[in-house]
Amino acid sequence: MKIPLLDLKIQYAPLREETQRVINDILDDQHFIGGRYVSELEEKIAEYSGVAHAIGVSSGTDALIASLMGCGIFRSPLDNSPALEVILPAYTFFATAGSVWRCGAKPVFADIDPDTYNIDASQISSKITGRTRAVMPVHLFGQCAEMEKISAIAESNGLAVIEDGAQAIGASRRGVKVGNFGNCAALSFFPSKNLGGLGDGGMVITNDGELAVKIREIRNHGMEPKYYHRHVGGNFRLDALQAAGLLVKLPHLDSWGAMRANNAAVYDEAFSGIEEIKTPLIADGNKSIYNQYVISVPNRDAMLAHLRGKDIGCEVYYPVPLHLQECFAELGYKKGDFPNAEYAAEHTLALPIYPELTREQLDYIVAEVKNGLVKR
Ligand SMILES: *Cc1c(COP(=O)(O)O)cnc(C)c1O
Repeated sequence: MKIPLLDLKIQYAPLREETQRVINDILDDQHFIGGRYVSELEEKIAEYSGVAHAIGVSSGTDALIASLMGCGIFRSPLDNSPALEVILPAYTFFATAGSVWRCGAKPVFADIDPDTYNIDASQISSKITGRTRAVMPVHLFGQCAEMEKISAIAESNGLAVIEDGAQAIGASRRGVKVGNFGNCAALSFFPSKNLGGLGDGGMVITNDGELAVKIREIRNHGMEPKYYHRHVGGNFRLDALQAAGLLVKLPHLDSWGAMRANNAAVYDEAFSGIEEIKTPLIADGNKSIYNQYVISVPNRDAMLAHLRGKDIGCEVYYPVPLHLQECFAELGYKKGDFPNAEYAAEHTLALPIYPELTREQLDYIVAEVKNGLVKR
């Protein structure tokens, strides 16, 4: 049996005709940037997330950059003062830190909670300096970070909160969805995210009307009206083709999410009581969208080789924590600085969790994970 980590072809099959119809509409229209599909997607994502404003952008990374710029975290080339600082977890996809760096600010890392893999909120306060301007919690693998604690710390220190919700559209905590905790949140429509486009795409969502106006301008070179620039922004625009493709998929997002959760429950049950396997811990009050199902095992590399040898797609998210990335060497971090992030990087792997997995496939994966445990 060959099981990929993610099978987008199965998801596409029933949506084929509708997707091709909207693509043809756009080709006939020859209106490729912005336009009615983008506005409609913005309205629907805002409604879905329960926020007041949504701004479609070119990727999740650009959503983070536009959010930082919108919150005033952007270094002018004429500014000689020490860099502004943004606190974020050491264990996340690179874009969280890369976007901070590209805005001319300094990423300041914090360790993660070893159970949820999200930023350890108790580590944030000690990292705050006179230059800190924001905290960027990541809702990793589809589960919300500890937002009450994070927001309280941010509020008492006058910091912005930018949620990296790239893996967590629709995830909720105590009934509140991603995008309603911080000043704004970044979403990604990269094809492997739960709501994936026909290529790159992203969105900034927020309840702050003023911030929304500013980010809408930043998306288009800070231009408003045409050829008048109040801010320096970028070309962070979303294509009509992406918006149209996403509008076809959005009505299915919750049923796909429920299927992912069912698959997770099958794994949880099958691995319960096996001491060597640590299954994902979903914190009280959290509803995960299971963008990934990540387990921790003592013999991770051998397990990876074993599963791949059995044609089971799996992946390590992420093999090197951000504080140990070569490009951040000048920040001066060293091995041992964030033991939980380092432990996760060495012991975790993601199993297939996509909605259309069959029971037979899940049973096969479970059996091979158990077989893989004995290998060293
Ligand atoms: C995918 C991802 C991003 C970036 O999104 P892109 O659309 O690929 O630019 C940012 N942060 C996290 C946590 C992600 O998983």
